[in-house]
Amino acid sequence: FVTGKRKATEVAHAVWRSIIRKGDTVVDATCGNGNDTLALLKMVADERGQGRVYGIDIQDSAIESTSCFLNMAVDDDRERELVKLFPVCHSRMEDIVPKDSPVRLVAFNLGYLPGGDKTVITVPRTTELALQAASRLLNSGGLISVLVYIGHPGGRDELNVVESFASSLPINTWVSCKLQMLNRPIAPVLILLNKK
Ligand code: SAM
Repeated sequence: FVTGKRKATEVAHAVWRSIIRKGDTVVDATCGNGNDTLALLKMVADERGQGRVYGIDIQDSAIESTSCFLNMAVDDDRERELVKLFPVCHSRMEDIVPKDSPVRLVAFNLGYLPGGDKTVITVPRTTELALQAASRLLNSGGLISVLVYIGHPGGRDELNVVESFASSLPINTWVSCKLQMLNRPIAPVLILLNKK
């Protein structure tokens, strides 16, 4: 997954690509400017118009930014309509995703919106609630992917919460692991939680 990749997001996308199949339902729990949403859309969209990306962000401006980005980047209207965007806290993702939709992947890219309001930032309490919700929604064989930024104030506290959630998952049903760039000490940390 890491060969030739310098950015943690590229590594995350490579991991997602190995799990996601065409036609899957996935959740982008922090859509921000829409880069991850677009990557997920390209992984799930199939020629029969199947696949679904539920995109969530607490900021209206992020939802607008994602929507504009998708309008620019995706020519096919039918494909773009596979993305459903919701301006809510990700701790409420169970109110959005239909109960009968098996979810293959829930992606978190924590922190603040690049180029946006840096005071609106993911916080440990709602991140933990969202991880609990994601763990209930996820289908067997699926993945929760959490990219945690540690360079800003509060980043390491959030990493502690994510790591303690990951460590508490039962070993008979979950594999939890952590990918960290040892020669780049403040690079984001990727936590991967695979449900058996
Ligand atoms: N994935 C994005 C992309 O590809 O551009 C980048 C995400 S950015 C690092 C983090 C996002 O999390 C911000 O847009 C912020 O508004 C959002 N956020 C913060 N708290 C949130 C919450 N409680 N629920 C959902 N989104 C939240």
